[in-house]
Amino acid sequence: MKKVSSSDTIFKEAEAIGDAPTEGFFGEMNLNWMIEKSELAGLYDKVREGRRLDIQDAHRLYQTQDLNMLGALADLANNQKNKKRASYIVNRYINYSNYCILSCQFCSFSRKKRDQDGFELTLEQMQTKAREALELGITELHIVGGLHPSLPFSYYTDMLNGLKAVSSRLQLKCFTAVEILHLAWLSKRSVEETLHELKACGLDSLTGGGAEIFQPEVRKKNCDRQGVSQRVSRCSPYLAPARGEKHLHHALWSRGNSRGSLGSHATVKRTAG
Ligand code: SF4
Repeated sequence: MKKVSSSDTIFKEAEAIGDAPTEGFFGEMNLNWMIEKSELAGLYDKVREGRRLDIQDAHRLYQTQDLNMLGALADLANNQKNKKRASYIVNRYINYSNYCILSCQFCSFSRKKRDQDGFELTLEQMQTKAREALELGITELHIVGGLHPSLPFSYYTDMLNGLKAVSSRLQLKCFTAVEILHLAWLSKRSVEETLHELKACGLDSLTGGGAEIFQPEVRKKNCDRQGVSQRVSRCSPYLAPARGEKHLHHALWSRGNSRGSLGSHATVKRTAG
């Protein structure tokens, strides 16, 4: 295997022969110097010009040992997009139930009806939690559960209507992509019709979970029923990557499928739903 020098090593070698820049290693003046020497040099222009990286670029980034340059490129991309802005949301996370008809291998959340620690909340209990959140100044609720075996579709629409009735200030970010698929099946509607119906009842946005693994081979092993990956992509465009090199394919797949999809606010990976 070809031995690759990191920019750190290059710097030390250059320093030893008196050829290193004299500014601090991460100083702005030295970025060009680092880029020129780095094995990732060719990617700099692409990132700077905001061009899409392809699978070959992704492999280079994944395999590089030059973590300094990788960090510098990531910082450059982030700065171009966000400047110095950073934001966050304080929300209340509520699980309406942990019963689920699936048994995904990685899931430690779901329970079966026979389990003693299974639960489902009533609308009144959900409303109490919503009021508690409001008292703390929290206006966004993040609501998810498993794929419940017996709750009717009206449970979900009543939940949304009932929470909006507590306060119209509440932002309802509810359901993972796979829950939406389940609700569409439950209501005997298409995914699109189901989303319209839920939106009419108060749904403001979707959560980011439930479609984390798009690499077909990995998904099949862990949790998929045939074709679910393709269909959930229509519900949840922003997806957290699976670990390992296969996530390169996952990232490209989800990026390609996110264009023109329905909106979602969350990018947080989670285990339930
Ligand atoms: S990950 Fe979600 S769909 Fe899979 S078993 Fe857990 S709760 Fe159910």
